[in-house]
Amino acid sequence: MTAYDPNNIFARILRGEIPSTRVYEDDETLAFMDIMPRSDGHLLVIPKTPCRNVLDASPDQLEAVIRTVKKLAIAAKAAFDAEGVTIQQFNEAAGGQEVFHLHFHVLPRHEGVALRAPGQMGDMAAIATHAEKIRAAL
Ligand code: 5GP
Repeated sequence: MTAYDPNNIFARILRGEIPSTRVYEDDETLAFMDIMPRSDGHLLVIPKTPCRNVLDASPDQLEAVIRTVKKLAIAAKAAFDAEGVTIQQFNEAAGGQEVFHLHFHVLPRHEGVALRAPGQMGDMAAIATHAEKIRAAL
């Protein structure tokens, strides 16, 4: 397995080298808004310690991340009055992973509303408003 790259974009977000819209953090995890949201409220949860994905993550890293995923899934569902939540997680390029620091996607969902296509930059003002709604629901 390829070694962890400490200069991946999420490692740089963790170090504060590039901006992000943070919604929650604790000692072990960080949640922030996806910059290309596939639904309103699309956020990412990452461990603060390095690992590429589920394949090299420790049980402690996975436990901490899943605790935060659950917390944020409940908050995002409430914030958007959603009927469901999609949680996605990809491992290695062949598995659909593009950023090689473990992350889970949390996407509030409404009945009959499809996810937007991937790779489209979001409106930063709208993302900031969505983040505030999630923070308020925590
Ligand atoms: P994955 O690795 O799970 O396929 O996708 C990585 C996710 O990270 C994508 O949903 C993409 O929109 C998001 N992403 C990529 N670069 C950035 C960035 O600089 N900031 C934020 N907040 N999200 C990013």
